[in-house]
Amino acid sequence: MREIFDYGHGISAVDALYDGHPTQTAIHIVVEGGRAAIVDTGTSRAADRVLAALAARGVTPQAVEYVILTHVHLDHAGGAGQLIARCPNAVLAVHPRGKRHMEDPSRLMAATVAIYGEQATRRVYGEVLPVPSARIVEMHEASVLKLADREFRCLDAPGHARHHVVLHDSKTGHIFAGDSFGLSYRALDRDGLQYVFPTTSPSQFDPAALHRSVDRMLALRPEAIYVTHFGRLAHPLRLASDLHRLIDAHAEMALRLREPGPQRHAKLVAGVRDIVLDEAARQHWSLTKEDLIAVFELDIELNAQGLAAWLDATAAQS
Ligand SMILES: [Zn+2]
Repeated sequence: MREIFDYGHGISAVDALYDGHPTQTAIHIVVEGGRAAIVDTGTSRAADRVLAALAARGVTPQAVEYVILTHVHLDHAGGAGQLIARCPNAVLAVHPRGKRHMEDPSRLMAATVAIYGEQATRRVYGEVLPVPSARIVEMHEASVLKLADREFRCLDAPGHARHHVVLHDSKTGHIFAGDSFGLSYRALDRDGLQYVFPTTSPSQFDPAALHRSVDRMLALRPEAIYVTHFGRLAHPLRLASDLHRLIDAHAEMALRLREPGPQRHAKLVAGVRDIVLDEAARQHWSLTKEDLIAVFELDIELNAQGLAAWLDATAAQS
C-alpha cells in the first residue's frame, strides 16, 4: 500500500489511513529549505507516519514550523495536539473560531460522539490532546505564514464550515483547500480524469458561501488544488463546474425535504445516494453500484446530517 504521494515542489501527501481506510484522508506536508509545514493532521494515530515521512525528507521534528488546520473537524484536526507536543518549535495555525476547540477539544469530541457514537469515536480518533494557548496563532483573511522563502497566504473560505480557511502557496500558486473544494477519491479516477463531490457534513454547511469560496479559489487560477480527501487535483476549472452543479443538487434536494418529520433523515440519505448514483452515470464512473455506495457510505450519511442541520438553521432564521 502506498502511504506517501510526492507531488513535486516539496509537497507530499501522507495517507492518514483514516479508520484504516487507504487514500481517504491526506495529511499534506510542505518542505522548504529544510523547514516544514503540516497542513491538516488526520487523527492522533497518524502522527508517527507524518514524522517518519518528514524524517525521510531530512526534516527533524524541531524543524517543523507550522501545523496548519484548514478547519477543526476531527479528521483534519484530531492529530494536532499530538504533533504540536512532538514538534517543539511548531505553532498551530487555525481560524479564530477554531482556536478554543483546539485549547479544549472536549466539545469537538462530544460532537463527534453524537455523530459516530462513543465506541467508534474512540477507535477512530484515539486520544485527542489539547494544544497550549501560547502555541496557537490565529489565521485570518490575508494572514501570511512564512516557511523559509515561501509564503502561505490565507483566504477565509466558509461554506463547508464557518471557520474554514484555505492556503495559497506563493511558490507554486497552488491551493490547499481542506474540504472547501469537495471530496475527490482516487478510486474513482478513470483515464487520467479526476472527479469531485461536495461534502456538506454537519453542522455549518452553507451552499451560497461554499459557491463563493470555490469561486475565490478559482479566481487565483491555481494549476493544482490539494484536498484532504484525497491529494492533488489537476484541472481545477473543470472540477469546479461539477462542484457548483453538485452543491446546487444537494441544496435543491434538501429544500424539497424542508418539512421536519420522522422520515426526513432517511429521505435525505436516499437523496444524497441518488445524487452519487446520478453523478456516476453522468461521468461514467467505472465502479459497480455496490462499490460506489461503499466508497461514499460515510459521506452519504454525513452529507444527509449536514443538510438537515442547514435546513434547521435556515428555518430558525426565517
Ligand atoms: Zn470537514
